[in-house]
Amino acid sequence: MTMKTIGLIGGMSWESSALYYGIINREIRDALGENHSSRCLLYSFDFQEIEELQHAGEWPALKERMYEAGRLLFNAGADFIVLCTNTMHMVMDSFEEETGIPLLHIVDVTGETVRGDGIATVGLLGTRFTMEGRFYVERIRARYGLEVLVPDEEGRRGVHDIIYRELVAGIGSDESRDYYLSVIDGLVERGAQGIILGCTEIGLLVKEHSCRLYDSTLIHARGAALRSLR
Ligand code: GLU
Repeated sequence: MTMKTIGLIGGMSWESSALYYGIINREIRDALGENHSSRCLLYSFDFQEIEELQHAGEWPALKERMYEAGRLLFNAGADFIVLCTNTMHMVMDSFEEETGIPLLHIVDVTGETVRGDGIATVGLLGTRFTMEGRFYVERIRARYGLEVLVPDEEGRRGVHDIIYRELVAGIGSDESRDYYLSVIDGLVERGAQGIILGCTEIGLLVKEHSCRLYDSTLIHARGAALRSLR
């Protein structure tokens, strides 16, 4: 069987890229059996550099870097691109159009999964860029008809700070977990029927809640494996 080559843009952070690598390979083994594993390429950024550009609002420079990584992977043989972070999808709206390279957009696979479960109102956790930017909330509303709730200002700040202070460094304290669970409780009280863990490191911290959790890492990585087999 011919398997497509997945081009992973990662390192944002590597903690979650490592999860992608594991999930994709396990999915391929489960699907094909024996010792099959994924055919993939990884371009991994130095996250410190990316984080500084994000917080300085240097989105055009970040866009250039993401596009360049995509082109390098494509030229090296990738059939399609998987950008292993929600936040950086901020600059990917016209990636396919401008480069002619196929992209498996994280909002699309997540939106399809949530809508497939018959959910109408969903809570979204992620970086401030993801929760407040138009690229995520508007795309998921327009394409999948979902109502999206985000935490209030204080909740957004708390969720964002924990991502950059702990999760990207592989740290997940009990205190932070309790904080996230309380923010999720608040979203459920406001009517969320499910919660999107819309940052690829949150699954390292929050594993369960009585409300349905949609881990973007799991959904995106599984979607990538599936697409490589199509
Ligand atoms: N991995 C995170 C995300 O999914 C945050 C790190 C980043 O800013 O890229 O948004």
